[in-house]
Amino acid sequence: MRLTDISYARAVMLRHGIVPQKRYGQNFLTNPHVVDLIADVCADDECGIIEIGPGIGTLTEALCERYKKVVAIEIDKTLIPVLADTLSGFDNVKVIEGDAMKLDFNALIAEHFPGMPVAVCANLPYYITSPIIMKMLEYGPLFRSITVMIQKEVADRLTSAAGSADYGAITLAVNYRAQVEKVTNVAPSNFIPPPKVTSTVIKMNVLQKPPVDVLNEEKLFDIIKLAFAQRRKTLANALDEKYGKDDVASALEKINIRPDVRGERLSLSDFARLSDLI
Ligand code: SAM
Repeated sequence: MRLTDISYARAVMLRHGIVPQKRYGQNFLTNPHVVDLIADVCADDECGIIEIGPGIGTLTEALCERYKKVVAIEIDKTLIPVLADTLSGFDNVKVIEGDAMKLDFNALIAEHFPGMPVAVCANLPYYITSPIIMKMLEYGPLFRSITVMIQKEVADRLTSAAGSADYGAITLAVNYRAQVEKVTNVAPSNFIPPPKVTSTVIKMNVLQKPPVDVLNEEKLFDIIKLAFAQRRKTLANALDEKYGKDDVASALEKINIRPDVRGERLSLSDFARLSDLI
């Protein structure tokens, strides 16, 4: 029996005295089609998988059925014995108790996946969606891809175009590292307990190198952060204190952009060109 069978999942939780913990963002998946879809799309056959937050093991079992090796990192120590129970039929899984935000993924991969491409797969706890995504992307091409279920609202931001209301600093930060595709939306009724919002599965195909060349990456992201911190201001005004309004306006003119533009209108490549000029 699979853990997407609600009566089986409830029996497992009852047997181990598990009540889903809000503070850890525990909403367990119950729809077998969604679980299979995520497990199918998240990686190529030859990949090893890192799962963040296996919960009671619902997605983990689908991953173990498809891939050679799965390492699952779970912060909630009360779930470790549950996972030992629900995953006892698999010999290709290793559960690690720990906080994914604090883990050194270089060391983890060197230890568990030598010579193997690795993909990340997770139904993420929503309280740390953005920091976890940014942490994983900062490793660059260490991961081949990162497939995550997140709030639809955040997925819309990551896939939005310049000029739209959802477009922001995180859109640019993610697009600097990965090509993002939406896989599917998932309604709250597909989880126990149901979350308050609709979810979306996205797959981030990690780029071997950024899509734009820039002299100073840190400066690029400083400019982007300042541009969106006060998004109602013109870009020149938002950057005035640190970079000088006149210098910004003349740099914009050099790249054929109106000097009174707002930051939300600029593409990643516009920001890169601007960053090199000021
Ligand atoms: N994968 C399971 C599923 O799809 O049913 C559970 C997903 S649930 C939304 C999120 C899981 O992440 C929970 O098991 C939670 O305890 C775990 N978690 C929360 N914060 C974490 C962290 N910082 N590091 C690792 N796991 C974490």
